[in-house]
Amino acid sequence: MKNIDYKSEIQRLKKEKNAVILAHYYQEDDVQDVADFLGDSLNLSQTAVSTDADIIVFCGVHFMAETAKILSPNKKVLLPVMNADCLMAQTITKKDLQKYKDEHPDTKIITYVNTTAEIKALSDCICTSTNGLKIIEHYLDQGEKILYTPDQNLGKYAMKISGKQFEVWNGCCPIHHFLDKRKVLKQKELHPDALIIAHPECQLDILEISDYVGSTAQLLSFVKKSEAKEFIVCTEKGVLHPMKTQNPDKTFYLGSPTLSCHDMKKTRLEDVYNCLLNETNEIFVDEEVSRKAVKALNTMLELSK
Ligand code: SF4
Repeated sequence: MKNIDYKSEIQRLKKEKNAVILAHYYQEDDVQDVADFLGDSLNLSQTAVSTDADIIVFCGVHFMAETAKILSPNKKVLLPVMNADCLMAQTITKKDLQKYKDEHPDTKIITYVNTTAEIKALSDCICTSTNGLKIIEHYLDQGEKILYTPDQNLGKYAMKISGKQFEVWNGCCPIHHFLDKRKVLKQKELHPDALIIAHPECQLDILEISDYVGSTAQLLSFVKKSEAKEFIVCTEKGVLHPMKTQNPDKTFYLGSPTLSCHDMKKTRLEDVYNCLLNETNEIFVDEEVSRKAVKALNTMLELSK
């Protein structure tokens, strides 16, 4: 079909089907603009729980839609592009984690939200980049042995902040992990007054030269409150869109042009329209897996209070 005005058609279908569109900050700008809610993965899944919509179109990657389905089992959750996956989530398998658990039965498994439902189901507690430090410290304060999976960088950062040692899986987000410090320093040379702000999925060498480290939501909040006028942003480039919209008087430079997640950028307006129109790409999660994953997610919510 030609000449479809995707934006207005999506609005029409949303009303007709009592649907809601959730988009992650790393989505393309035009996809963010048709969303009812914009946020990070967990925050969007919690929004999915509170909405009375019958259909949730989750513009993000697979594990995010899966998390929304786990938390809202009675709603129809659709993912516009079925093969939009998270490379970090692929760095840990059910088989490998089960093997580790069998060999270390006393170790608590703390898992970052960027994982499949099967990995969440094998975990004692989930965490995000916002509450990760708090949750890790809670278990360490209880004298527990812990394994943090799968992001080695957030794990190493938590070790540095807490001054305590624990086991960390060897996974990472390649988009953040391979950010070249020289590129960031080059930006600083070009914009000496700009503050460097970074996501903890970056390596320690980037975090050490940063003026502020935080989750996507924390970076957005920091920028809003800061008196600085320029920022070098070391996370996925999609976040520049809400940063610019919310702070028209401030200027943002991306730490490096490599900070773009290929899978997050797969979703186009046309995909959002097609999946809403035909109600395709529905996400299903095995009931037993879902039950165990919810338990780990609820433990996180309890410990985050
Ligand atoms: S930016 Fe990294 S962690 Fe986020 S979805 Fe892409 S690969 Fe996964």
